[in-house]
Amino acid sequence: MSNPVLIIGAGVAGMTAAVELADSGIKTILVERQRSVGGNALVLYKAFPTDDCFYCFEGNRWRPGIRKCFYRSALTDQPNITLKMNSEVDEISGSPGQFTVKLNVGPVYVHPKKCTLCGLCMEKSQAFFLLSPQCQPQAVMYDPEKADDGTKQAEEECPTKAINLSAQPTEETVQVSDIIIATGYHELQPVNMDEYYYGKHPNIITQLELAKIIDPNGQSGGVLVRPSDGKPAKRVMMVQCVGSRDENYYPYCSKICCIFALKHANILTQERDDIHVSVVYMDIRTYDRYERYYRDARNSGVEFVRGRVSLVNPREDGTLDITVYDSLLNKYLKFTVDLFVLSSALEPPQGTDKLIETLGIKSASGFVALADPASENEVVVGDHVYACGTALGPAEVPESVTQARAVVSKILQNRK
Ligand SMILES: Cc1cc2nc3c(=O)[nH]c(=O)nc-3n(C[C@H](O)[C@H](O)[C@H](O)COP(=O)(O)OP(=O)(O)OC[C@H]3O[C@@H](n4cnc5c(N)ncnc54)[C@H](O)[C@@H]3O)c2cc1C
Ligand code: SF4
Ligand code: SF4
Repeated sequence: MSNPVLIIGAGVAGMTAAVELADSGIKTILVERQRSVGGNALVLYKAFPTDDCFYCFEGNRWRPGIRKCFYRSALTDQPNITLKMNSEVDEISGSPGQFTVKLNVGPVYVHPKKCTLCGLCMEKSQAFFLLSPQCQPQAVMYDPEKADDGTKQAEEECPTKAINLSAQPTEETVQVSDIIIATGYHELQPVNMDEYYYGKHPNIITQLELAKIIDPNGQSGGVLVRPSDGKPAKRVMMVQCVGSRDENYYPYCSKICCIFALKHANILTQERDDIHVSVVYMDIRTYDRYERYYRDARNSGVEFVRGRVSLVNPREDGTLDITVYDSLLNKYLKFTVDLFVLSSALEPPQGTDKLIETLGIKSASGFVALADPASENEVVVGDHVYACGTALGPAEVPESVTQARAVVSKILQNRK
C-alpha cells in the first residue's frame, strides 16, 4: 500500500486537497500550526466572487445551488484524513516519493470529538474559549497562558471528560509519498511604516481586522464600531498598496487587496446606514470579473482619491485628521475619519524560508516558486512536492481551490 500524502497547512487550499484526496481513497496527513482549520478564510465574513458567507463557500463552483461547505465536511471523521492541529513539520529527509518527516505535534488539551460545546468550562475559566461559532473542529480551545483559578475545576467537571490539562507535546515520524505545501499567506502588520501610525492608535487597522469587526459572528455583532471606544464609526478611509509595490517592503502587487478593499467598501455603504467610505489608491486593479466591485463601489457613492496619504493626526476624541495629496487635482485634501483601514501586503508566513530550504525548492519573493516558472497554472515545485493556494503568492479562493484540485489530479495520475 502507498504511503500517505503530507499536506502542510489546513486553509482552504490544504483542506480542498485533503478532502479530495481522501474522497479518492488516498490517505493524507494534514498538519496545521493553528488550533483550528480554515486559515485566513475563517475570519473573512462574505467572500467574493459570490458574496456567500465564507463558511459555505466553495470557490470555483460559483453556480447557485451547488455549493458545498468545507467547514462541515467532517474533517475529523473522514478515515483517510489524519488531522494534526497545533503541529508543525520539524525535519524532512529521505528521497522523493519516500520522504521521512518528523512532526512536532502540539498538546491536545480538549479532545475535539468528546467536547459537546456545553460551555461549562468557559463559565469556569477564561482560558477556555470558542474561536468562532463555525470553527472546525467544533470544540472549545484552551490557552495555557490564560490559566486561572477555575481551570482545574473546569477539567474535573467537564461532563464528557474532554479536557486533559496535563497533555504534552509529542514528536512523531511519518513516511509519506508526496508533500503538498499549502501554507498560505500572512497579512503584513505595518508597524514599521511610521507614516501610517499602525499599532499606535486603535482606530488604525488592517483589512483583516476590519473583516473581523463587520462579521456578524464577531464581538460587535457586525456593527461597525471604533476599537478605541466601541462607538459607531461613520467615516472610513482605506489606503491601498500598504507595503506592496514598495521597494522598501515588497516590490510585488499583492493582487487581491484592491478587490477585498472594494468588497468591504461595498458592504459598508450598501448594508449599513450612513457610512461614508473613501479609498486612497495608486491604481485600482480589479482584474477579470472583479471589475464589478469597482463599478458597484462607484454607484454606492464610495469616494476615490488618487494619490497618497501625507499626514495622519490623531485627535483626542478618537477621530483622525488625514491629509491626502491628490495627484489628479495636484492639491492637498483634508479628511476627518473614525477608522483608517490599511490594505496591507500579503507576505509569506513565518517558516516558509525554512521549508523552502529543507526541500531544496525555489522561492519567488519569499513564497514557494514553481519548479518551472515558464509553465503557468502549474503546481509542481519539486520532485513529488507540490504547492497550491497562496503558498505560491497572493491569490483568491477560487484560484487556490483550482490549484489544490490540480495537485490532486497530478498525484492521482502518478499513482495510476
Ligand atoms: C482582508 C482579506 C479579504 C479577503 N477576501 C476574500 C474574498 O472575499 N474572496 C476570496 O476568494 N479571497 C479572499 N481573500 C483571500 C483568501 O484569504 C485566500 O485566497 C485564502 O485564504 C487562501 O487560502 P490558503 O489555504 O491558500 O491560505 P491560508 O488561508 O493562509 O491558510 C494557510 C494555512 O496554513 C497554515 N500554516 C502556515 N504555515 C504553516 C506551517 N509551516 N506548518 C503548518 N501550518 C502552516 C496556516 O496556519 C493556515 O491555517 C481575502 C484576503 C484578505 C486578506
Ligand atoms: S466542559 Fe467539556 S464538553 Fe463542555 S465545552 Fe468544555 S470541554 Fe467541551
Ligand atoms: S491589488 Fe491593488 S492595493 Fe493591492 S498591491 Fe495591487 S494595486 Fe495595490
